[in-house]
Amino acid sequence: MNLNTDEIIEKLDSGEIRIHEIEKYAENANQATDIRRKYIENKSGTQLEHIGKYSIDMTLTAQKNIENQIGTIQVPVGVAGPVIINTEEDEKIETYVPMATTEGALLASVNRGCSVIRKSGGCSVSILNNQMTRAPVIKTKNVHDASKLKKWIETHFDEIKKVAESTTNHGKLIKIDPIAIVGKLVYPRFVYETGDSMGMNMVTIATQEAINFMEKENDIHVIALSGNFCVDKKPSALNMIEGRGKSLVAEVTVPKEIVEKTLKTTPEAIVEVNYAKNLVGSAISGSYGYNAHFANMVAAVFLACGQDPAHVVEGSIGITTAEDVDGDLYFSITLPDLPVATVGGGTRLETATESMNIMDVKGSGKVNKFASIVASIVLAGELSLVGALAAGHLARAHKELGR
Ligand code: NAP
Repeated sequence: MNLNTDEIIEKLDSGEIRIHEIEKYAENANQATDIRRKYIENKSGTQLEHIGKYSIDMTLTAQKNIENQIGTIQVPVGVAGPVIINTEEDEKIETYVPMATTEGALLASVNRGCSVIRKSGGCSVSILNNQMTRAPVIKTKNVHDASKLKKWIETHFDEIKKVAESTTNHGKLIKIDPIAIVGKLVYPRFVYETGDSMGMNMVTIATQEAINFMEKENDIHVIALSGNFCVDKKPSALNMIEGRGKSLVAEVTVPKEIVEKTLKTTPEAIVEVNYAKNLVGSAISGSYGYNAHFANMVAAVFLACGQDPAHVVEGSIGITTAEDVDGDLYFSITLPDLPVATVGGGTRLETATESMNIMDVKGSGKVNKFASIVASIVLAGELSLVGALAAGHLARAHKELGR
């Protein structure tokens, strides 16, 4: 039943319609968005002029990306680069990279890192792993049954794989490992390859099908489809060791003269800062982020490119190393847990598509290129910040650019 804006707002005011029901009475999701915004404006006495200005199609976001929408948030987006990457396949990627942030000095710093990488002949990136995980928690009757279930899963892997993969064209169950047992609780970690998608919806659906099968064949009770052994959107040692999403390493060797001229410091000073701050400082604080600020670069690229922003917590995990090699600076970053996608999720947003098109990473067959670019940008940002700390001019940059 279509009602006009005033009628819907009247029914919202009287409580006859609730805010999540507007779509049922509006012509389409775009109109529902406008009505909901107007209702919230009236209720809060706040004009939502900027939240209400956008060009993306809210009928599409309403299908998959958000509920109860009232508009969009605008975050400034800039570019850093070009960054130059030498891939394991001997290909050279040279691209500007869009980054969305409100943190002054971030793009300037990353841009400086890109310039150092360019002057050093580019960075090298390797992709070590590509896996997305889902780990249910299953209750058995006693510890013997828990142990038996673990063995049953190990010996019935092929059948479980067939059932799980029946739900997806692209997802492949590669292992169920590790399988943790705590008392009579069992936590099998389902590990999938998910192609160009980040894969969380895909592996959730596939794992649900698999545990339906396991429940039929065993006397068990599935407590929850996710038992936090996945580990989705939380910092964890498990993800750091086993990897999740893409696991990547990136490195660059910066000649001494470039360190001195561009970063205004020395390889020795950078090595010392990295040791004392990123390694020892992180160790004494029990941090999984043995780095200066991976999260800054990951968050800014994720926002620009429609990635799931909550996965920044996983992208923040990782280690930066620095060595003096014959007087030059060897610098690397390791990202064990970077969930990224070039299809699905928020990548279909018009703004994300445009950002990804700058780098030619939208769509099928592009996820490794995209992941490599994110790694290179993390390397650039890390190099620049550790360099700034070594040169002692971090506070000055923030004062000039961030205030
Ligand atoms: P999705 O948008 O739900 O699905 C992507 C789908 O695209 C795949 O399932 C696949 O279909 C299809 N596809 C087409 N071409 C592909 C290609 N080249 N490679 C891989 N897949 C291709 O996205 P998703 O990646 O599974 O999940 C991402 C979303 O999950 C995000 O929006 C995120 O916020 C959300 N999320 C969900 C959970 C959860 O627990 N459900 C948790 C965290 C985040 P087929 O499967 O048929 O092959």
